[in-house]
Amino acid sequence: MFKLTNIQSHYEKPLKISIFFLFLLTLSLISFSTFAQTNLKIDSTLVKSFDKITRTALADTFGYNLLRELCAFGGRLSGSKNLINVEDFLLKKMSGLGFDTVYTQTFTTTNWQRGNVEKFILRGKNSGSDIKFEVAALGGSVGTEGILRADVIEISDFDELEKRKNEIKGKIVFFNFEFDQKVYDSFSSYGPAVNFRVNGVHRAAKYGAVAVLIRSVASNFDDVPHTGTLRYVDTIPKIPGVALGVRSAAFLAELLKNGQGEITQPLLFEMELDCKTEGTCEVKNLIAEIWGSENKNEVIVVGAHLDSWDKGEGAHDDGAGCVQSIEVLHLIKKMGIKPKRTIRAVLFANEENGLAGAKGYAKVTQDDVKKHYAAIESDRGGFVPRGFTTDAPPEVISKMSSWLPYFKMTGIEWFKNGGGGADISQIKGSKALIGFYPDSQRYFDVHHSENDVFSSVNHRELELGSASITILTLLLSEFGL
Ligand SMILES: [Zn+2]
Repeated sequence: MFKLTNIQSHYEKPLKISIFFLFLLTLSLISFSTFAQTNLKIDSTLVKSFDKITRTALADTFGYNLLRELCAFGGRLSGSKNLINVEDFLLKKMSGLGFDTVYTQTFTTTNWQRGNVEKFILRGKNSGSDIKFEVAALGGSVGTEGILRADVIEISDFDELEKRKNEIKGKIVFFNFEFDQKVYDSFSSYGPAVNFRVNGVHRAAKYGAVAVLIRSVASNFDDVPHTGTLRYVDTIPKIPGVALGVRSAAFLAELLKNGQGEITQPLLFEMELDCKTEGTCEVKNLIAEIWGSENKNEVIVVGAHLDSWDKGEGAHDDGAGCVQSIEVLHLIKKMGIKPKRTIRAVLFANEENGLAGAKGYAKVTQDDVKKHYAAIESDRGGFVPRGFTTDAPPEVISKMSSWLPYFKMTGIEWFKNGGGGADISQIKGSKALIGFYPDSQRYFDVHHSENDVFSSVNHRELELGSASITILTLLLSEFGL
């Protein structure tokens, strides 16, 4: 049960203080003592209490201010100096917030570095008439070891690749698969398109391709390339993989069709990348806990990943989720709530290119006396809240759905069947793995690109997310599934 003491909120006017304490008294005496017995009955006093959490998040902008500081370090790729600096910074920050414990877990992962050169150009007939394309190496890509010259063949999808497999040898394969704009939920467009980013290199290399270009997996129409991880298969040669900005991809397709400008015939394409994987690096999970007052050994995880791609500042992906996870604990602490179960914020390492933090966390905690009761992950951007997806059985989802009136002020409208997230997916034995699901319209405008910066985050949308996750965490902690 909640013990609400010492609630402070700077937007309360002094005149309202006596009403405020009366309100507190009502909360502690009536609502929280009766709620456990009337589990699914909506308690209007509790609704008010959760609205207070939401108002506090919106007014304090604790998470938003922390995100500003986090983003100032730049991208947080595993193995980078930026990430080490951020680990130090956040560890100090979290240690100063009065939580019951703050600690780290250290793991080793591969060390991929982008290097300094990434070029894809079409040589012009005269000097100065070269055409430069906007490109970014895909994460994990091998370099070109000097300048790679080859013809480009445009391929729309893997069916076409199979049909034209005899034309691939010695060429750069250009997968020009468009992000589907015809659906509401942009995550469902991401899935089919990202297949070419992840698997394009080994599928094309199997037929003798020398490199792969993909159209960026992006929902907007600028020319900023979007990176992301690729996958090699041990038995197939490793060839470079590169993302083209969406406009560069459209232009390249046009050019291959018609031939344009002052260019040579045949077309002379050149690619140069000096990215490489060099040895290993250490990465850290950062963890903070508020211990449960009654069931200390039952843990509810609120998590996100601390690393990001090196392009941009990893603001939405996943700085937003990190500050929301810390803010959940901060809000609980600030409101004077003593949760029944232990609430644990985990900032996972290395989600983008290895998942070392999530895998390591699951291994380290599997024999722990503290068991996972439930886990919530925020890794879909800091946009306006819409719902939560979960792997839990239908009766559990319908129980969570009965809590919806408590989320009225946050914008949360539904609980649905679906994945929790990459990091918590490694956790075994919990009652529910839950993914926070904000609005998806703008996520893939910024995802894995230079567009993913602090200025692309709206403070109200971010804070409503923090409040939503806090409310769900408390409902799970106090009333269970
Ligand atoms: Zn992410």
